[in-house]
Amino acid sequence: MPTPPDIRSAIFDGPGRPLRIEPAARPTLQPGEALVRVSLCTVCGSDLHTFAGRRKEKTPSVLGHEPVGVVLEVCGELRDVSGEPVRVGDRVVWAVAVSCGECFFCTHGLPQKCASLFKYGHEAISPQCGPVGGLSTHCHLLKGTAIVKVPDGLPDEVAAPAGCATATVAAALRVGGIVANPDRKVGGSTHRPGGRGSPSIVVFGLGMLGLTACAWAESLGLTVIACDMSDSRLSQSTRFGARHLAKPDALAELVKSLTDGRGADVALELSGSPDASRAAVEVLRVGGTAVWVGAVFPTEPVSVSPETIIRRWLTITGVHNYAPQDLASAIHFLAANYTRFPFAELVSKSFPLAEVNEAFRFADAERPVRVAVACE
Ligand SMILES: [Zn+2]
Ligand SMILES: [Zn+2]
Repeated sequence: MPTPPDIRSAIFDGPGRPLRIEPAARPTLQPGEALVRVSLCTVCGSDLHTFAGRRKEKTPSVLGHEPVGVVLEVCGELRDVSGEPVRVGDRVVWAVAVSCGECFFCTHGLPQKCASLFKYGHEAISPQCGPVGGLSTHCHLLKGTAIVKVPDGLPDEVAAPAGCATATVAAALRVGGIVANPDRKVGGSTHRPGGRGSPSIVVFGLGMLGLTACAWAESLGLTVIACDMSDSRLSQSTRFGARHLAKPDALAELVKSLTDGRGADVALELSGSPDASRAAVEVLRVGGTAVWVGAVFPTEPVSVSPETIIRRWLTITGVHNYAPQDLASAIHFLAANYTRFPFAELVSKSFPLAEVNEAFRFADAERPVRVAVACE
């Protein structure tokens, strides 16, 4: 009989109150469930917003939805996104959202908008299950969770953001027609990777998602144009594949000069700014696509001209949450590219679970791209 693990979680009681480290009972797993020993969890910007009270979530809860860990126990048969069995000892990441597989949205290609969506790091603590957030020594994986194995060599701090930031970028690039969407080719004709005439993408907002989007697009041979208000973020983006940089007021001219006056094929809005959302439409070529991702909070409305959308054949699409395949793409991308781009440096500091409040204070004060909490 193995010794029961010593489970401890950081409990969030509401904004303005420090997280409490509390013991938790070992959950009794149901078929299709797993218990994971969390190695490390990166703290996403939305956790900081919740902690500071800028967005409202259920309490008490265990925050953290960018964890990576090792499977400690499996009940019944469990398979990863690619259909491979999940076994004790596998190092894994898992999707932030669990969908039912049966509702209208699950059966119409939008499992990420399931009618009874469950989200790790966002649910109130329940006596029916163990910890379901990443800021915990262990996480209870419920039936239907999309699990992806982490290849050997990929560092924990690089793999962790896959569960939120990288998979969201995967979804945005997919709906923008760039990643694994064989029905639609960006730019159409043949092109020289990164050269004149190659498909172009404008990335607005150079935080974790923006830097990841730049690197991913560059790795696919796109001309990457990065836009942000911050000089230091623009400069950092050059190490993630951005070859062309602009502050918002200089962007239109730069895009024109790089695209023979046509405009960009795709624009990704990751900052949440209404001005950037509008600019993401304005920089497009005829037939281009703007993907809005950043504004996951109320903003001023953005006005668009129906005539412009019609005459220019423009597409505006939103992305919120992601599908299981996006998490698999995310890990695949990171494994193939983490030595080319300095993803590991984006996690500026790591704190032990016992110092989780210090991690949040540091993140709020210093605004690094990511901090990590080592949960072992
Ligand atoms: Zn997140
Ligand atoms: Zn559903």
